[in-house]
Amino acid sequence: MHNRSDLAVTRVRHPLKFRLLQVKQVRPLTPHLTRVTLTGDDLHDFESASFDDHVKVFFPRPGADKPVIPEASPDGPVFAADQPRSVARDFTPRRYDRAARELDLEFALHEAGPAAEWAAQARVGHYLGIGGPRGSMVIPTGFDWHLLIGDDTALPAIGRRLEELPAGTRVAAVIEVGDPSARIEFATAANLYSVWRYRSDAAFRGGALLQAVRETWLPDGDGYVWAAGEAATMRAVRYHLVNERGIDKTRIRAASYWKEGAVAVHEALDD
Ligand SMILES: Cc1cc2nc3c(=O)[nH]c(=O)nc-3n(C[C@H](O)[C@H](O)[C@H](O)COP(=O)(O)OP(=O)(O)OC[C@H]3O[C@@H](n4cnc5c(N)ncnc54)[C@H](O)[C@@H]3O)c2cc1C
Repeated sequence: MHNRSDLAVTRVRHPLKFRLLQVKQVRPLTPHLTRVTLTGDDLHDFESASFDDHVKVFFPRPGADKPVIPEASPDGPVFAADQPRSVARDFTPRRYDRAARELDLEFALHEAGPAAEWAAQARVGHYLGIGGPRGSMVIPTGFDWHLLIGDDTALPAIGRRLEELPAGTRVAAVIEVGDPSARIEFATAANLYSVWRYRSDAAFRGGALLQAVRETWLPDGDGYVWAAGEAATMRAVRYHLVNERGIDKTRIRAASYWKEGAVAVHEALDD
């Protein structure tokens, strides 16, 4: 175990690039999740090597039609000194089609925040800026089993992973959303076992997800766990899997995609 070279997670770097894009289509997937298709010639060389990549999304300031986006330089992003910076948040490249110059992002419509507010009123023709992805962690698909865990913010990555896994791959998805109206259908050729849990049934946020993970049976063999969602919940999920279930730390990638009461949080979780 743990020496199969085909199972090594690899890091890929991409040149940093900022792109100005326009909304081509807005499609509500559920009352709580909206898919926005962006387009622009800047996408001709867009690259995203992993389902858990992210782009930094720049939103127009109130009253402006376009976001202020930085210039890429060898030392990183350079912001114009004379302009107020745009608000920026991280989102998953859910699908892209270089030939068609399209990129889909999916926005969880939570109560308050510039990104969620932008998505709730997004219309064809609106502008957004994106930066990156700067790099990717490529998790091989050849594990004996995969476990994907997350909340609404992880749905785009989970949906993309399920589309990318080869036919017959053994995968379980354990997902917490607000209530059954937030469920989506996944397109996958993998052998998927999915568990949906609802915050409406739980005493506290993350409680339903943690309980479902505790109840998840883990097969033998070489597996990989990927988890993303609210910070405190992800910490508890990772703690349980590593310390109580014996998952090797090289076989789990857990990240905070947001944090209750804080803005724009992204943390990879390790010890
Ligand atoms: C690598 C990465 C990839 C991500 N991919 C996606 C994605 O594809 N789709 C997606 O929807 N999100 C994704 N996220 C999460 C998203 O970046 C955050 O939810 C972000 O905070 C949203 O920005 P906002 O402006 O709406 O809210 P903020 O201004 O950041 O936060 C405002 C308030 O809302 C709370 N909050 C933030 N997000 C949520 C939420 N989902 N539910 C409830 N309360 C929340 C905050 O705690 C804060 O109190 C990703 C995050 C990371 C780090």
